[in-house]
Amino acid sequence: MKRLTIIFLAFVAATVLAFGQRKIINLPDLPGYVTLKCDFHMHTVFSDGNVWPTIRVDEAWRDGLDAIAITDHIEYTPHEDFIPVDHNAAFKITEKYARERNLILVQGTEITRDMPPGHFNALFIKDASLIDKKQVWDCFAEVINQGGFLLWNHPGWKAQQPDGIPRMYDIHHKLIDNGWLHGIEFFNYNEYYPLVMTFCKKYNLAVLGNSDIHDIISEQYHAPEYTNRPMTLVFARERSYDSLKEAIFAGRTLVYFRDYLAGMEEYALPFFHQCISIGKVYHKNDRSVYFDITNKSDIPFYLENSTSPAPSYINLEANSVTRIVVSKKAASPLVYDVRNIITGEDEVLKIELNY
Ligand code: ZN
Repeated sequence: MKRLTIIFLAFVAATVLAFGQRKIINLPDLPGYVTLKCDFHMHTVFSDGNVWPTIRVDEAWRDGLDAIAITDHIEYTPHEDFIPVDHNAAFKITEKYARERNLILVQGTEITRDMPPGHFNALFIKDASLIDKKQVWDCFAEVINQGGFLLWNHPGWKAQQPDGIPRMYDIHHKLIDNGWLHGIEFFNYNEYYPLVMTFCKKYNLAVLGNSDIHDIISEQYHAPEYTNRPMTLVFARERSYDSLKEAIFAGRTLVYFRDYLAGMEEYALPFFHQCISIGKVYHKNDRSVYFDITNKSDIPFYLENSTSPAPSYINLEANSVTRIVVSKKAASPLVYDVRNIITGEDEVLKIELNY
């Protein structure tokens, strides 16, 4: 009996070793690009986070991500009585660890100032300690000097903007005039800022969504409330550091959190159509036409505001086939708003269904 138990335990151990526990995020690629799932904002014990840096890599691998940046605060290191201050430590500790797990690791840090200008992530940098400067403008200049990507974090964070509304101050305009600001967070933690879409469109900036996680990720985002952490989808030519960097500087992103997507229509529209496929009409009678729509993605789509005689709304559940019955009086294409794909401050994606 005892021996059987040992054999059984050995089998369990072997199974665990053989089978990882990485989640598959079902999201399509765009033609010519691969979709990289990324989280570019997270903290460790090297600033005010509560985990060791390798845990961030493990969490990201389990969550099915392709790339992360650990972005500890430069100016805020509350654990410094116990952990020495080294702004490059998290990167140095995780560099090899991430490579062994096929995760793209982007070196980053967070410039942490009162509003204005607020908090900024420096991504794709080479040495975070050189960004530790007294004057914030000198920090920004060093990010640019290192070829880094400058991201304005949570611009409507209530600790800095009590009404939750992002505002651009002179320094933000100066950054934009210099071509130094590259993106703004639309999703951060469990917040989102619709006005960011207006800023990004007006100034041609990338839209980003990140977790800003300080504690254990699975304690913050778990079922049934959350299906995923906030993430940035980057449309890169291939799954590599260089392609990721090229793509994010080019602004080829969408952001994904809960059941929401947000970003520019030029990416949202083809992405939606990559998620779904419309079947051929398989039946007709005197009154109706029958066909189905397959949604191969993890995101349910809520179509609404069509005009009679088309169905006024259609829900395309995630990873499901939805049967559609349309009046013969309706003409193809059917035109809908996708309620959960945000393409502007007060705007959602419009789509056409051809059948
Ligand atoms: Zn942060």
